[in-house]
This record gives sequence, C-alpha cells and structure tokens, in this order.
Amino acid sequence: MTYIFEPEDRVALSVAGSEQCFPVRRIYCVGRNYADHALEMGADPVRESPFFFCKPADAVLTGSKEISFPVKTNNLHHEVELVVAIALEAENISVAEASACIFAYAVGNDLTRRDLQAEAKKAKRPWDVAKGFDGSAPISSLMPVAQCGLLERGEIYLKVNGELRQQGDLSDMIWSVDEIIAELSTLFVLKPGDLIFTGTPAGVGPLQIGDTVECYVEGVARTEHKIVAGR
Ligand code: MN
Repeated sequence: MTYIFEPEDRVALSVAGSEQCFPVRRIYCVGRNYADHALEMGADPVRESPFFFCKPADAVLTGSKEISFPVKTNNLHHEVELVVAIALEAENISVAEASACIFAYAVGNDLTRRDLQAEAKKAKRPWDVAKGFDGSAPISSLMPVAQCGLLERGEIYLKVNGELRQQGDLSDMIWSVDEIIAELSTLFVLKPGDLIFTGTPAGVGPLQIGDTVECYVEGVARTEHKIVAGR
C-alpha cells in the first residue's frame, strides 16, 4: 500500500547531549495551573480546578527562531511554561506511577490569540483558534531527566526585549507534574512522543512585531524567539 501523497515528516525536538531527536505525537496543555495566573484571568483558583486543552503536534516551532505574527488577532499573548516530554505509555495511572513516564523537560511558550479566546469564552465555544494555530507552540530542545533529575522546584521566567514580564517557581503549580500526568492518563492514553504544557504563572501580556521573547526554566533550558510580520 502506498500513500496518495508523501506524508509530512513528524515534528521532532532535539535532545541536549544527544544526536537523537524526540518525535512529537500530541500536545496537551493545562489551563490555570498557577493561582496568580488564574486570578489575573478573572477565575477563582480555590473553586475551579485546572483543566486540559490541546494543540496540534505540528504547531511546534523548533529550530527556527522567528515566529510570524498570526493573522486574525490584535492581541497575541505570551505564556511561558514548563513542558514535559513523555516516553512511556500511560493509561489511568496513579500519581505515584507518573514520574516514570517523564523522559525530559523543556521550556515552551503557549502562544494565545487572547482576543479570540475571550470571544470563545463569552460564546461558550472551543478554544482551538485561540490556542492551536500554526506556530503556536515554540519550544526549546529537551533536557532529559537522566541529566537534570526530576524537578519539583525551579525558577521560570519570560522576558520581552530583556524586560521581565513573567516570573514564578515550578513549586507554585496547583497540580504538580505527577498529578497532571495521572489526571491526563484518565482522559487519554498517553504515549511516547506526547508533550504536556503545564501552565503559566502570572504576567501574561501582548507581543508586538519586532519583539524578542526569552523563555527560561532553571536547570532545563533557555530559548529565544523573535516575532516577525506574517504574510
Ligand atoms: Mn497556557
């Protein structure tokens, strides 16, 4: 059996200290996993639990350091996040079993058309066009757990043109990474190649054409990308 056209290569992430790369299967994202960000979005972190949404795997941007400002938005927001890379199948697992599934960490930017997201929330519609557009998931290379160990705390920040916009600590997450993996595994069968964006701390805000965005997670990675005009 042959294909009617050649399928695209899978998006893959480079792995620090390795010649091998990590093929991306799915991208899951956690919403409102830091109390200070939930508050700035007008939500109540005590009464509402975090939740999940997805981005398409080919929304990952790696290697290229330029991001085209997407059309159909006047309010493109940055959200710096710890990203977890999964390398074991997991279905309905316990929190205690979760850390064995983690292959590596990265730092990513959950780019968001905030204006379209606000419209979607108001109309009780899905978030796909706000969260899952092309290039909406710029991400660093992967830092394997074998090199950095399992993370429970560490600084996370985002700078725009050298100015600090978001800052927090991984220990401030409402759901820990292990809790996220366990919860997600009750909803979907996790498989090798899956990425999980684990939520953003407070300080999200708009990006403009020409901005340089720096994303950092202590002990994991620092990555930089520039926002350029789209077509
Ligand atoms: Mn996010």
